[in-house]
Amino acid sequence: MKGLDFIIMDGVNNKKNIRGISLEELSLLLTAHGEKAFRAKQIWQWIWQRGSTDFEQMSNLSKNTRELLNQHFYFDCLWPVQVQTAADGTRKTAWRLRDGFLVESVLIPGNQRFTVCVSSQVGCKLGCKFCATGHLGFKRDLTTGEIFEQVIQAQKAAETQGMPLSNIVFMGMGEPLLNYEHLLQAIERITAEDGLAMSPYRITVSTAGIPDKIRQLADEKVRFNLAVSLHSAKETVRSSLMPINKAYPLSAIAESLKYFVEKTGTRPTFEYLLLKDINDSLEDAKALALYCRQFPIKINLIEYNQVEGSAFSHSPEKRQEEFIKYLEGCHMVVHVRRSKGQDIDAACGQLAGKETKNPGLSD
Ligand code: SF4
Repeated sequence: MKGLDFIIMDGVNNKKNIRGISLEELSLLLTAHGEKAFRAKQIWQWIWQRGSTDFEQMSNLSKNTRELLNQHFYFDCLWPVQVQTAADGTRKTAWRLRDGFLVESVLIPGNQRFTVCVSSQVGCKLGCKFCATGHLGFKRDLTTGEIFEQVIQAQKAAETQGMPLSNIVFMGMGEPLLNYEHLLQAIERITAEDGLAMSPYRITVSTAGIPDKIRQLADEKVRFNLAVSLHSAKETVRSSLMPINKAYPLSAIAESLKYFVEKTGTRPTFEYLLLKDINDSLEDAKALALYCRQFPIKINLIEYNQVEGSAFSHSPEKRQEEFIKYLEGCHMVVHVRRSKGQDIDAACGQLAGKETKNPGLSD
């Protein structure tokens, strides 16, 4: 357990981020100030079960306790700066963080339920060519609290529309496995009985493919779903779309996925964005089917959301149909994800990149 000095000195104006400490650390601070240890659990429930970000809301605490908390802690809150709603109900929010950076989350309506797509980093290091976030560069990792709050905010927004938030996908800004510790802590809080108690099977983490992190996840016996953004089963094509493929080629990803499947007994998903004349030919489908023979896998084919000024185009219907038909002929499990929110800046990173007041991210 860390000492009290660490708790009170590390933070903003000598305050500590309360969503960055453990229950034990909170308990230590409270008892050092003459409070009963059980208060820590009450505060913990306010933060992680009810999603409170205001000590004054914590009505079962005394005024003195609330003052003590205000003296020593702050919340790493998100503030909405822009909301865009598409004709199909998809709602994208740009959030301002405490230090002024912006991130996005997207609330997507489905069949009597909502899915939220959350960000894990401000910007991204990986620079995928088809991705608006990739053009923004990397600023910093999100904290556990900043990831968690995107989910809380989505839950509240879903409730106001009378439908539950049932699924969480880590497919927003950033590479989640490069913010490994905060990602796992946030998922632990989202799924914990003394947190939001959501099913881990309703959570999908999508990675560009970081083999050592995929192995690490397998060793942790994760229970959430793993998706890998593949986008091509040809090395040269994938490298041209995703520069990270030069460091972690398809062969390395395949080895880590074999390990993952063996250790967890789960079937990951490949995300495959269909791009006209880049990766949507019959040859590409054959390469994909061959690559997928190595392990049990599902395939999500994604329609490209046309981005203004982009070098990429939406794959024509006929091309898509042939691609799907070939894969199904190989007895593969294929789902097609139609683009949502086509009339807003729904592609990852577009809205945050447009917000001109962002101190770190340029257009
Ligand atoms: Fe980063 Fe994902 Fe965009 Fe690639 S697609 S640049 S990994 S945010």
